Amino acid sequence: MRRQARGILDSMDNSIALVTGANKGIGLEIARQLAAAGRTVYVGSRDAERGKAAVADIDGDARLLVLDVLNGESIAAAARQVDALDILVNNAGISSDEPKDVTEEDPEEFRRVYETNVFAVVAVTNAFLPTLRRSAHPRIVNISSGTASIAASAGLGEGVLAYASRPTGTLAAYRSSKAALNELTVLYANALADDGFKVNALAPGFRRTNLNGPARASAAAGDPAEGAAGAVRLALLPDDGPSGGFFSWDGTPVPW
Ligand code: NAP
Repeated sequence: MRRQARGILDSMDNSIALVTGANKGIGLEIARQLAAAGRTVYVGSRDAERGKAAVADIDGDARLLVLDVLNGESIAAAARQVDALDILVNNAGISSDEPKDVTEEDPEEFRRVYETNVFAVVAVTNAFLPTLRRSAHPRIVNISSGTASIAASAGLGEGVLAYASRPTGTLAAYRSSKAALNELTVLYANALADDGFKVNALAPGFRRTNLNGPARASAAAGDPAEGAAGAVRLALLPDDGPSGGFFSWDGTPVPW
């Protein structure tokens, strides 16, 4: 086992990370910051060319890992290529192109969004778990959303979630998928607590990325790198850090 092979050098300083959907947006910034912090980073990308471009754009030890989180064969092939892993960042995610009210939503849209934001997270996490279990400091970070907070939807998310605390019925597929991801975060944290894992969910804030369509041009959309910093903090948590939590990009706990 690598834990034994590393001996006293087995610190978090030389940890190895995988970021899914790291070819652009927040994922690219997470990969960039982990590499800048001296970690080895597998840049997950479903498209090899987009992934290569991202790797070329990152200073440090960044490696392309072709990984389509919706494709079981792709996940299995990627897992076979990674023989040591300390950090898994489940970042790949999609939203709805057309934000409709829940009363007008097509159930197919829920299936489409849940496939990537929920089911694929289970498939990817479970495929890489055997490798993560060999780490001395395993960490899983699930990229969620402040809009997934049920407290915010109910109008109770004051303070950190004021921006998301609107009693509307829009973006239901996306928001409820991330609420399911939050629950998965707690369930994984519980299941892996005795194995030294820290499993947490991040609300990266409203960011200038493709996910937001034209809204990314709004003045309220912040720098993706700022949201990514919150993921890096959770990825590098010390052994006495929290697990099973939901945190904003600035480290503030987010109400469920
Ligand atoms: P983005 O720029 O659209 O990036 C999404 C990434 O996910 C892309 O690399 C995309 O790859 C990848 N992806 C999608 N489906 C995939 C699949 N089947 N297999 C592998 N990769 C796949 O969006 P982003 O804003 O950076 O989103 C990153 C995460 O942050 C998401 O989980 C999102 O829900 C979350 N988030 C974003 C915001 C925000 O304001 N931006 C706020 C809260 C939460 P391709 O390039 O191949 O499509």
